[in-house]
Amino acid sequence: MMAPHPAAPVALALRGIFKLSSFKRKLKRKASIKTAKYLKKNMNTIIQDAVNAKLSGLKKIPDKCDLCDLAFDKSSREQVFSWMLKVDEDRDVYNLFCPACYSKYYDQEEEVNNV
Ligand SMILES: [Zn+2]
Repeated sequence: MMAPHPAAPVALALRGIFKLSSFKRKLKRKASIKTAKYLKKNMNTIIQDAVNAKLSGLKKIPDKCDLCDLAFDKSSREQVFSWMLKVDEDRDVYNLFCPACYSKYYDQEEEVNNV
């Protein structure tokens, strides 16, 4: 059975890439958006830390939405917290979704899982 690869806001997904596993545990699927909103209030420095610590991780992030090709601005704090990144570290696959596409994608995935 495949392990799930939850999507998380880019800033938080980066923490996952950097092996901070406590975040990963918190970012289980359904709770991810709520958790992100909570963390957003408390963790404004996440992306700065991430950028400073590991530029290599940032390079792996696609520069546009996987579904609609909308450009992603890695230097925009707002986008870093609102766009969703799905990380499959085993296969080194990074899927990036803009907020609009993610909500569509997420709804579909929920439906599939609920069948
Ligand atoms: Zn999109």
